[in-house]
Amino acid sequence: MDDSHPDEQPGPKIPPFTSTPVDQIPVIRTGLKNAFRTGRTKSVQFRKQQLLSLAYLVKDNLALFHQALASDLGRSETESIVIEINGTISEAVSAFHNVAKWSKPERAPWSFNFFAMKPTIRKEPKGVVLIISPFNYPMWLLLGPLAGAIAAGNACALKPSEMTPAFSALVADLLPKYLDPELYTVINGAIPETTKVLELQWDHILYTGGSRVGSIVLTAAAKTLSPVTTELGGKSPVVIDPDCDLKLTARRLLWGKVANAGQTCVAPDYALVPKKIADQFIQACKEVLKDFYPEGAESSDSYSRIISPSHFARIKTLLDRTEGKIACGGSTNSETKFIEPTIVTGVKAHDSLMGEEIFGPILPVIEVENEDEAIEFINARDYPLALYVFSPNSSFKEKVAENTQSGAVVMNDTLLHSVVEGLPFGGIGPSGSGYHTGKFSFDMFTHLRSTLDNPSFTERLLWSRYPPYDEKKRKSFVSLSFPTLPSRTAAGGHAGPKRWGPLLVAGVVVTSSLALLIGRWRLNRP
Ligand code: NAD
Repeated sequence: MDDSHPDEQPGPKIPPFTSTPVDQIPVIRTGLKNAFRTGRTKSVQFRKQQLLSLAYLVKDNLALFHQALASDLGRSETESIVIEINGTISEAVSAFHNVAKWSKPERAPWSFNFFAMKPTIRKEPKGVVLIISPFNYPMWLLLGPLAGAIAAGNACALKPSEMTPAFSALVADLLPKYLDPELYTVINGAIPETTKVLELQWDHILYTGGSRVGSIVLTAAAKTLSPVTTELGGKSPVVIDPDCDLKLTARRLLWGKVANAGQTCVAPDYALVPKKIADQFIQACKEVLKDFYPEGAESSDSYSRIISPSHFARIKTLLDRTEGKIACGGSTNSETKFIEPTIVTGVKAHDSLMGEEIFGPILPVIEVENEDEAIEFINARDYPLALYVFSPNSSFKEKVAENTQSGAVVMNDTLLHSVVEGLPFGGIGPSGSGYHTGKFSFDMFTHLRSTLDNPSFTERLLWSRYPPYDEKKRKSFVSLSFPTLPSRTAAGGHAGPKRWGPLLVAGVVVTSSLALLIGRWRLNRP
């Protein structure tokens, strides 16, 4: 007898979230190590099969992934497709097409001294790598880098966020059905499980998340000498030129702010707006939000929710404590973890909204006199993950880019740089170190192994390197390998004190010799 509830959907379901038993974690890592040692990831053909399976894992299970992302983040299907599903599939497909090219050994540049030894860079997997990912883009930041790890030939443990239980349970269920389960595995859990994971040595760790946990990961990794790439967060500013198209600026800026309800690492965090256009800018923002959510954001299917009650409470506290003025939005609902897209004006540097990354749909507007004040404001803070400039003027854009530092600098849009093929994604200083996406993910998980093969005939040239040393050997070595320096003026500009004396003497000697020769020649003429 079929005892299922009449409303229940037939077909595959998302299993319940279960944490990996802590005592199993070292066993899992040993299993990955043994599987890696079999050498099967060395085959490019094998990597391509796995990459294709990874792309199909996502494509075949789109409905389940949409269900999981809606359950975890209250996200609409369209937004999930735009902000992470397409990007994840593209990462796997791009690696599939390029892995043969990326993994080809590279010859070192030709040099007279060494060409006979065939110096070459072998692109080798690092070994068994670990990816720890955050809640906000659970698929893109887990399976995207996995494509790089597979392409580079590694075995990989994946530690998704416990804050997205539906997604993390689903991926743990699907991965062994599509990929080699001995080489790629999910470890689910929260702090106790991740702490255990971090007690072990890994051949590379990619950590994406907040800077507080970033420090914990780096400290743990230092103990096992595991190399780490950190993709952290921070406050990404927006600089606005009074000449820009305000409606278009507001639309592109606010899209970056409301996508995923502001829970995006490169979301514009705050806007530095020239005083003289501040009112018009706020008006443009109000119009855009009305266009985005004509019935209001709370009843819109296009708007996500905050991930957890504690994150909701954190963001609400920042808003409650602001000394700025709420120009639009501001409503919240703790039951549904809803925070309305909100613009706060008159915000000062010491405001509650300026202390930490907001990671929610609130945009503080800080009024400045001009771009110089905006640049000074940015430079007084940590290097951000992204910096956005809205301006039609090349000189304005260049001035901001030239005089600041950030992970990325994007003109006249937000977020898009993270999905452009060929651009590295990464922070600088406190916003992270290292790069990923596409070939940069492959490089992150690849060891560049130097190799050369010295034939015996080079002994005729290299005899002088062996002791006992004498003057003849010293001279031979100097003539063979002493580096040739460019002239002191080769770099242009002033390159140290000019030696006019020797030049003057040489000039006098050459001129007088010439005069002497000409004189003699004239005297000897018949
Ligand atoms: P988080 O730091 O709370 O969690 C990230 C991961 O660390 C999770 O897998 C979690 O299980 C694990 N973790 C949490 N506490 C831990 C502990 N004490 N010890 C060991 N592991 C622990 O981050 P989050 O809240 O999921 O994500 C939001 C943050 O991530 C924001 O700061 C955002 O800017 C940043 N982020 C950065 C990028 C980027 O590419 N630079 C992308 C997305 C998110």
